[in-house]
Amino acid sequence: MPLSVQCPHCGRRFEAADTLAGQPVKCACGQVVQVGAASAPVDFFAEELGARDNPLLAETPAEWAKATGAPPEIAAQIEKRMAKKLTSNSSFMMAVTGGVIALMLIIGLLAFWLGSH
Ligand SMILES: [Zn+2]
Repeated sequence: MPLSVQCPHCGRRFEAADTLAGQPVKCACGQVVQVGAASAPVDFFAEELGARDNPLLAETPAEWAKATGAPPEIAAQIEKRMAKKLTSNSSFMMAVTGGVIALMLIIGLLAFWLGSH
């Protein structure tokens, strides 16, 4: 299965063979992207922090960018995607909770109907 890679420099998405996992590949924009690492912006952020051996240096991508000298637009992109990820997680949870409540209502109505007959 090919790996989906997102370039943290320009945002392009492309696919790389899974044999290239962990390997640096060149994006169309000319920047070198780590396969596997860059496909998940949050992991990319964490990995960059870890790689610089200073996890306490920054708490947000913006601070990280300031501290490491990375272009602020990358930080903004990472931040946007982190926010999107959180939003999609919470809407998923809302859907699950809604489903459970609907199921309980159906069971309750069924029990009521059975009890009244
Ligand atoms: Zn690129």
